[in-house]
Amino acid sequence: TTSRTSSQEDTIIVSVRIRPENAQEHGLDYPLVVQMIDSKMLSFDPKPEQDPYFGPPVAKKRVKGRHKRKDLTFGFDNVFGESSTQREVFEATTKKVLPCVLDGINCSIFAYGATGAGKTHTMLGTPEQPGIIYQTMKELYFLIDEKKNEISCDIAVTYLEIYNENIYDLLKDEKRCLPLREDSNKKSPIITGISYTKPTDAQDLLHILSQGNKRRTQHPTDANAQSSRSHAVFQVYIHQKPRAAGTETEVTVAKLSLIDLAGSERATVTTNSGVRLREGANINRSLLALGNVINALASNKGIKSHIPYRDSKLTRLLKDSLGGNCRTVMIANISPSGCSFEDTYNTLRYADRAKQI
Ligand code: ADP
Ligand code: MG
Repeated sequence: TTSRTSSQEDTIIVSVRIRPENAQEHGLDYPLVVQMIDSKMLSFDPKPEQDPYFGPPVAKKRVKGRHKRKDLTFGFDNVFGESSTQREVFEATTKKVLPCVLDGINCSIFAYGATGAGKTHTMLGTPEQPGIIYQTMKELYFLIDEKKNEISCDIAVTYLEIYNENIYDLLKDEKRCLPLREDSNKKSPIITGISYTKPTDAQDLLHILSQGNKRRTQHPTDANAQSSRSHAVFQVYIHQKPRAAGTETEVTVAKLSLIDLAGSERATVTTNSGVRLREGANINRSLLALGNVINALASNKGIKSHIPYRDSKLTRLLKDSLGGNCRTVMIANISPSGCSFEDTYNTLRYADRAKQI
């Protein structure tokens, strides 16, 4: 695998973020299976280095489950190590597509990975270390302020969750599932009844986000008490108009979608039954459909062909924001621990596939 060089013209930026090993993993005493080589490369499950005097290390629990050693090297647009900051992640990924958004191009930013891998940390973060959504809005306000004399700009945001293939508004207390349809020219998806909010500044946005997050559906499951089976979708609508212009002038409209995806672990990992199992199956529908859309875009590069957007709520919602002229940022989150061998391997392969777009 070779490393990649990215530019603003690339339609997709694929990055991997390795979170630090946590105390629980550390206690289980598995060796780490991910090694960062440099800012664009990592190795997965490498052969242990042989000590010239003592020989190969004594084999202990290598990874969870039985796996042949992979010893793979992957290249991405960015590899962020465990000490990477929220700012670094933002600047090397999402910040790069913001000029495109202001040029009227729809862009999507995804946090992908198993439950506990760091998706929410990357997207939302904490008040002390705010994530990509906050930094994006701050930067957008800054960029707009810079040209406020020439262009008048209107920003509105929505925040919703897709849970069990239903759409819920996270900006409203009332929990009601909202219908998704296409506008008359079949170009943009429309959610009837969704609330649009205009944050007055970045601080106001933080408040809106934290209120919205409290409304997210969280169910404890056997595998992980923090397990999140919903996709959280934050969308920014940007309307721009030159100030000098008359009423005839075209308004530039663009949409930026930031998505904290549901956990990518296989539904079989959790030993649930009944309603939980159904939930798992439905989550896989949106995640699976996203994978299929990415696969179709990757294998038909440049060729006009059928892209299966219609297969799930998530892909229908993002129909005008994936593929075509759109820009995509994929941030695949992984744990470095041998406990998560299978999830990490699957996530790396998913991200590797996305590079082909
Ligand atoms: P996910 O949303 O993928 O389920 P989280 O973002 O909730 O995972 O992360 C799981 C835990 O690991 C949280 O306690 C989070 O604070 C911590 N964590 C995740 N990524 C990082 C990171 N890059 N640095 C420090 N802590 C992290
Ligand atoms: Mg999460």
